[in-house]
Order: sequence, then C-alpha cells, then structure tokens
Amino acid sequence: MSVLNKPIYITNTKSHKKELFQPITPGKVKMYSCGPTVYGLIHIGNLRAAMTADLFYRFFLRFGYDVTYVRNYTDVDDKIIKRANEEKVTSDQVTRRYIAEVEKDYALAGLSEPNHKTTVTDHMPEIITMVGKIIENGKAYTADDPQGFDPTAKEVFFAIDEFPTYGQLSGKKLEDLRAGERVEVNSKKKNPADFSLWKPAKVGEPSWDSPWGKGRPGWHIECSAMACKWLGDRMDLHHGGEDLVFPHHENEIAQSEAATGTHPYVNYWVHNAFLNFDGEKMSKSLGNIVSARDFLAQYGGEITRMLFLNVHYRSQFDINPAMMDQAITNLERLYEAKKKAEEVRAKKLSMPDPRAEQVWGGFMIDCDRARNSILDHYANDLNTPGALSEIFTLAREWNRCSAEPNAVNTPTAILAANEFIKVIEEEIGSVIGVGRAAPDAILGKIQEIRLKRAQNEGRETLTDGEIETLLQQRRDARAQKNFKRSDEIRDELLLKGVEIKDSPQGTTWVRK
Ligand code: AMP
Ligand code: ZN
Repeated sequence: MSVLNKPIYITNTKSHKKELFQPITPGKVKMYSCGPTVYGLIHIGNLRAAMTADLFYRFFLRFGYDVTYVRNYTDVDDKIIKRANEEKVTSDQVTRRYIAEVEKDYALAGLSEPNHKTTVTDHMPEIITMVGKIIENGKAYTADDPQGFDPTAKEVFFAIDEFPTYGQLSGKKLEDLRAGERVEVNSKKKNPADFSLWKPAKVGEPSWDSPWGKGRPGWHIECSAMACKWLGDRMDLHHGGEDLVFPHHENEIAQSEAATGTHPYVNYWVHNAFLNFDGEKMSKSLGNIVSARDFLAQYGGEITRMLFLNVHYRSQFDINPAMMDQAITNLERLYEAKKKAEEVRAKKLSMPDPRAEQVWGGFMIDCDRARNSILDHYANDLNTPGALSEIFTLAREWNRCSAEPNAVNTPTAILAANEFIKVIEEEIGSVIGVGRAAPDAILGKIQEIRLKRAQNEGRETLTDGEIETLLQQRRDARAQKNFKRSDEIRDELLLKGVEIKDSPQGTTWVRK
C-alpha cells in the first residue's frame, strides 16, 4: 500500500505483468534511469525517455515517497570520440558542451532535477573496483590484446557461462544467443555472447589506468557501477527506453549481481516504448530526426508534455499533425477553463442564489471524485491518458456549471473555482506537469503557434491590429443595428482563422 493508501501497480518488463509495487524500505523509493550519450543534441525520442523517468519520479513524490532518483550521462563512448576527432577538440569538451545543452532542453520540458546526475568519467574508481570484483567472483576473465596500443594491456570479458540466470530480463536463452552469434569470430571470447567490461586503450582515445593496463570501460558496466554506488546492491525501479532491455539491461543485471551476489538487482524494470515520426522510426538515414531543441522552441514545454503524456508510456506513438492539433486544443481548453475559474475566484462581490448553490454543490462533489480518479489512474501503471481524460471531463463540467444563469456570481462559485484550480494544479500539475502556468502565458503561446502555422501554410492571416480594426467596425455596425454587416465581418474573420466570442463583458477573439 502506498503512502497515499492506494495500491500501486507497475508493469514489470521482467514478468510482462502489472505487479503490486512494494518498496524495499517502506516509504522510500530508489530509482535509476539510463540517460543520453552526450555527443549532440538529444532528439524527441530521447526526450520521451527522459520524460518517462521524470513521470515516475513525480508520481512517487506525489504519492508521498521519499525518492532517490539517479540519472546518468554516458560521457565515454565511440560516438563521442568520433565527434571530438571531427571537431578537433577533446572528448571532455564535447561532453561538457552537450551536457549543458541537454540540461537546457530538460529545463524547457519541465523535467525535475534528479538527486544525482552521474557521469562515467566521475566514476572510474567504482567501475574499476566492480570489474575487479566480478573477476574475483569468477564471472569475468581477461584476454590479451597483442595488436593493441599497449601490448601488455588486457581486455576483460564477462563470462556468461558462469552466470546461469543470464537472460532473466529479456527471456533470451543462452543456447539461442550462442547459436545467433555463431558467425562472430572473436577468438578472445570463451563464449561468443560474452561482452566487454574493460577495453584496452586505442591510439587517440581517452583512457584510464587500471589493473589491466590503460583502457576504458565497456558500455554496460557504467550503469551497474553508478547505480550500486548511489543506490546500493538493490534498487526499487530501473528505467530506460525499450531498446535497452537487451543487451544493456540484461548485461547490467549480470554485472551487478555477479559483483554483489545480491539478487534481484532491480525489483521493477520499466521501459518506455518508442516515439516515431509520421509513421517512420527516427533515424539519421531517413533524415527525419527532430531535435528536442527545435520541438521545444516551436511548442514549449506544456504542449510537449500534453502530447507525450496523453499516450501511455508503454505505447508506441507517432507524432503527426492530427496529434499535435489535439494536444494544443486539449491544453487550450484546460487553460481557458482555468482562466475563467481564476476570474471567478477573484470576484469580490457575491450573491447567493439557491439554484446556483445546488449546481456548485454538485460540482464540488465532482472535484473530489475527479481528484480520486486521477490518483487511481496514476496508481494503475501511470495511466496518464486516463488522468487527463478526468480533468477534461471536469473542465467540461466547470464550463457547464458556470454557464448557468447567475451561477458565477454566487459564494459557492468562488469556492468551486478554487477547488477546480486546486485539482488542476495539485493532481495534474504535480505529476503530468501541465496546468500550473498562468493561463494567459499558455493561451498566448497557442495563439502564436496558430498564427505561425497559418503563415507557413500560406493561409491568409490578419495582424492583431487588423483584427481589432474589424472588431471596431463590427461594434459600430451593431450600434447602428446593421446586423448584416456585423455578420459579414464575423464571417470574414472566421475565414481568416479568427473566431470571435460575444459575452456580456464584450467581444474576445482567438486564432483557430
Ligand atoms: P541514447 O542516447 O541512444 O543512449 O538514448 C537515451 C535514451 O533515449 C535511452 O533510454 C533510449 O532507450 C531512449 N530512446 C532513444 N530513441 C528513442 C525513441 N525514438 N523513442 C523513445 N525513447 C528513445
Ligand atoms: Zn544504462
């Protein structure tokens, strides 16, 4: 049972089942997420992964847990070395630059800061100690590398034959792996599926001193060493994109359990599905990679979060224009309702009205029910689309109630407005991370996006000044009871993407 007294279910990649979440220590959660390799700007797929980890973190905090969240940056990698050589700078300069850039994107996307942000280069002693421990425990061996830069340096391999539970996460069988790897000719390995824990240095590559000569760590060992340093031999939850299940996470389990002798290393494995672009996987060869930087510059953090989190983290999804429109419209509706609620909340004068009090009494019950349902959706394997549908329903209900005659001028309306805002901010804002901003900022951004889009598509648009001029002409026409002209102006505006709304307070307009 969680601190909020609701049972939490999480789909464990290991069992493919929703499992009841039980933390190792009551009230505490230890979680680790595999972060990006820092050799360039991250793309929106990487951002989806980071946002999934952030979602879990925010969720556990909302459910009252004391959370320790570790996220790494892979700053030793072939791609980094290649980039550094191309740019004639050091690997260190490449990684420092891109860590700073990635952090800018994360901040724009509203991601929370983990408790520990780790890098491989800062954990070399821990990595070397762990590799030594695995050798000591008889689950890794060294091999000569006579062609290497330092002929005395050795390569260290993990011996999967010494780890019978290899395959526990991905379900892969040792025999199949062996068969699959038959073509590989690496005489240094005892089993073709053995993987490298430590690689001898090559000319022009960064390297570190170790008991096996100068070298650098294999890819997988970094996460084992960093997770064990900050979270201990066992953690509650480990996250990554679905491509990391095999071999990265399978190997991480093998390394950590071989070094510490503790099983299981991780109680709950969670993986987000991939994000594709208009039906295609994002890839360099297709030239359809969208950087998080460009996407966030265009849409901002809240639309991005609304788009990503209106899909369950385990469902693959495709960004296409229809989905973008849906996310923008959803966010607009939420903030329009919030704006109205803020106006009602700010009212100084109120007049009791028995019919309206009854309506709002019903709405207050809806608020309670929505709050509870939103939390139930979160507790059900982080069902964010379910939680969002609850808040959209509540916003519709708010609009319906506030449209009742005299309803917004009553004392209970003020209480109801306050409650509605609290449900948005406390339940949606805390976990999904939308709804806490000032409505005008978000609604203004949406208007900007729509104008830009219309211009890009070559549609006829109007400037704010032109719209105001037409509205003045319409007011004049109406004052002269020339309703035909007034309607013509309304139609002309609509044709140019501007919708107007008349209310007792005057006429407002939005771009659609
Ligand atoms: P990398 O920098 O390639 O190690 O990726 C960083 C994180 O992004 C990992 O957790 C990957 O699994 C994840 N990832 C990469 N591409 C995508 C994608 N298209 N959709 C979702 N997650 C992704
Ligand atoms: Zn990792």
